[in-house]
Amino acid sequence: MLNVAATWVGTEALGPGLRSVVWVQECPFNCRGCMAPDWIPARQARAVTPAELVAELLADPGVEGLTFSGGEPMLQAAGLAETVRLARAVRDVSVICFTGYRLENLEAGRTPTPGAPDLLAVVDVLIDGTYVAALDDGRGLRGSSNQRVHHLTPQLSDGGFDFTGRSRGAEIAVSGNEALLIGVPPAGLLPAFDSAVDSLRTHTSPRPRTRPTPASHTEGS
Ligand code: SF4
Repeated sequence: MLNVAATWVGTEALGPGLRSVVWVQECPFNCRGCMAPDWIPARQARAVTPAELVAELLADPGVEGLTFSGGEPMLQAAGLAETVRLARAVRDVSVICFTGYRLENLEAGRTPTPGAPDLLAVVDVLIDGTYVAALDDGRGLRGSSNQRVHHLTPQLSDGGFDFTGRSRGAEIAVSGNEALLIGVPPAGLLPAFDSAVDSLRTHTSPRPRTRPTPASHTEGS
């Protein structure tokens, strides 16, 4: 059973092509400037099985990849690895995973993440390292320049998508009275988004919630 903070089906803001995203609940790093502080605490969010999650993530037939963020995906590595295996039995999806842990520590077993080898075995691109606000250069699909992009398989390594140098983009999804910011936002977008949400809070009830992206990711792992 996975503990999931949020999901989104069909975005172009978190990797090449149309992707579905899973943000898991809980992160041990507590980076200053984390874009998803609500997803740091170790609390129960939505409990979902890998099979249920796959049905949700692949509901759009155009989805060609999955992106895992958080929260810290490696804390739920076994469940996410099973999610990938089940998804690939349906469709040959690529997988991008953010993590605050360093790859070499995951591989050496120096992290409290017993399922990490299983997840690393099915991930195509791993973006590792915690978010450091002082190293946020405003570029790429990572929150700060200390974070590294590891191509663990040839998938997504053809250079067609520049993980570190590309201009950032983000999407804002509104559903009911919730707003979700998807992606690693370019400079200035996050304050503008927060300001817009605060404005809505003064005019609506119940109040809307912000839903950012990756931490290690600026947002969530
Ligand atoms: S930025 Fe990423 S690694 Fe850091 S606290 Fe937020 S979710 Fe965790």
